[in-house]
Amino acid sequence: MGVQETDVLVLGSGPGGYASAFRAADLGLSVTLVERYPTLGGVCLNVGCIPSKALLHVAEVIHSAQDASDLGITLSAPKIDLDGVRAYKDRTVQQLTGGVGGMAKGRKVNVITGEGRFRDAHTLTVSDGSEVRFKHAIVAAGSSPVTLPFIPHDDPRVWDSTDALALNDVPNHLVIMGGGIIGLEMATIYQALGSQVTVVEFADQLVPAADTDLMRVYQRYNKDRFTVHTGTKITGVDASGKALIITAEPTKGDAITLEADALLVAVGRRPNGHRIEADKAGITVDERGFIPVNAQMQTNQPHIFAVGDIVGNPMLAHKAAHEGHVAAEVIAGHKAAFEPLAIPSIAYTSPEIAWTGLTEREAKAKGLKVATATYPWSAAGRAIGANRSEGKTKLIYDPDDGTLLGAGIVGINAGELLGELTLAIEFQACVEDIALTIHAHPTLHETVGLAGELAAGTVTDIP
Ligand code: FAD
Repeated sequence: MGVQETDVLVLGSGPGGYASAFRAADLGLSVTLVERYPTLGGVCLNVGCIPSKALLHVAEVIHSAQDASDLGITLSAPKIDLDGVRAYKDRTVQQLTGGVGGMAKGRKVNVITGEGRFRDAHTLTVSDGSEVRFKHAIVAAGSSPVTLPFIPHDDPRVWDSTDALALNDVPNHLVIMGGGIIGLEMATIYQALGSQVTVVEFADQLVPAADTDLMRVYQRYNKDRFTVHTGTKITGVDASGKALIITAEPTKGDAITLEADALLVAVGRRPNGHRIEADKAGITVDERGFIPVNAQMQTNQPHIFAVGDIVGNPMLAHKAAHEGHVAAEVIAGHKAAFEPLAIPSIAYTSPEIAWTGLTEREAKAKGLKVATATYPWSAAGRAIGANRSEGKTKLIYDPDDGTLLGAGIVGINAGELLGELTLAIEFQACVEDIALTIHAHPTLHETVGLAGELAAGTVTDIP
């Protein structure tokens, strides 16, 4: 409480905030971290990346048990103890948020719990009554789920992702509005736990940011698991009766009516730029709530930086953390810039959908010359042996010099396979480099090497 002086104020303790705070402290600066919630880690650790991945692991275990009969093993149907599953998810979250808390303590970061608002360009007031005077600030206040005016968000059967991850109930029929990454991860979890799941997506395909050929593989594999309506817009929700009555209008054909026990609204996230009184510090915020920054992560006020979801898409934890490091380093006087060639995106679904660098669609939209090479997992021993040969690995490259522009993978562990491809793009590797790198046999990453060989012409057919 009272007035506190600091070299660096960090507002928000998500991956952008804690990465900035820790880097700044490691570089010898005094740091004050203000977070409105009692645990550190932001959306990602508390109600985002981590609890969802714990529950997706549970879903994977259930699916593996259900698929065991294909392998000649008879297992009885999984019996789900929802309290036990919730406890597993909570333990996972606590281990990580506790770890971040310990790391803050270890670095003597001054943590203040309370809601912060700017008073002027060098002062933040906090709801616990304290006031922080800062030389530099890093705004890492994140984003919140988008709400829509025609949806009765105050009805307990209407969920956002935080409600879905609370795992209070497994509805008989769950309708998910939005077939993006978060919507499909929740579909995977609730279908495994026993819900009938219907996904309604406005765009023509699920995960609109991913290449269509990858999404076709995903949708074919899941055709019996979920009902999917693409090119369809939810236009009304009637919450007056026992069931939610949801009206949806496809671009072609007649309106659909769905009866649901719960509706998860997963139509995106809105940056929190308008919730921190940024104007009092003279920080420009655009009409959507994003704070514009340069490659050094500086706002229009050169001593105030912003990182993470609040500065723009993609809204991903690893992007936020890297931006946080840049901001802290620039404040400490280092020469640093956020200029990645590739930011990986992953849907941790079954199968996983993962891409890095440019998608084929983005590369073509940029007017680049584009070639692709795709290796099907139906020809990959490791995938066949795992009874999961539905996947494929695709490289997107410049046909003139073979430079790798991007890569997309759909299949089990696709997210793990993306690491070498992100590195390859950052190193401006070409497809020959990938082809000449010895990939172990039989592995899933062998499909990366074989796609490279197809592109380089050293393999010309697929068994
Ligand atoms: P946040 O993590 O949102 O943190 C912002 C923090 O600021 C919050 O703790 C908030 O309480 C605090 N705050 C805001 N305003 C104030 C204020 N005025 N005063 C005090 N504190 C304030 N990303 C991935 O990369 N991988 C994933 O697998 C993944 N899964 C996700 C699953 C779900 C369900 C969701 C919702 C998101 C997921 N994301 C994932 C996205 C990821 O969580 C975000 O990109 C990431 O958390 C952004 O970090 P950030 O530091 O910008 O903000």
